[in-house]
Amino acid sequence: MLLPHINTPRCTGCGWCVAACPPHVLSLHTEGWRKHAVLDDAPGCTGCSKCERRCPFGVITMIKTKKPDGHQA
Ligand code: SF4
Ligand code: SF4
Repeated sequence: MLLPHINTPRCTGCGWCVAACPPHVLSLHTEGWRKHAVLDDAPGCTGCSKCERRCPFGVITMIKTKKPDGHQA
């Protein structure tokens, strides 16, 4: 299946991907003074790629994964 890989250092925390995700499995996490998108619920992701298409900064890449484990760092 496909899961979004989020290039965290490049994420601006704009939240577009969070708003675009139909099952709401993405959210913004705060780390220090920065915010970045995190895939909270990998098994709940449908692999629809809407987050990848929505991100204005090309931060999200869909990658093939055998088993969703949530570790997308
Ligand atoms: S691929 Fe689809 S379901 Fe999965 S995180 Fe992105 S928008 Fe949400
Ligand atoms: S749309 Fe892109 S830059 Fe904005 S929060 Fe999502 S991954 Fe980060």
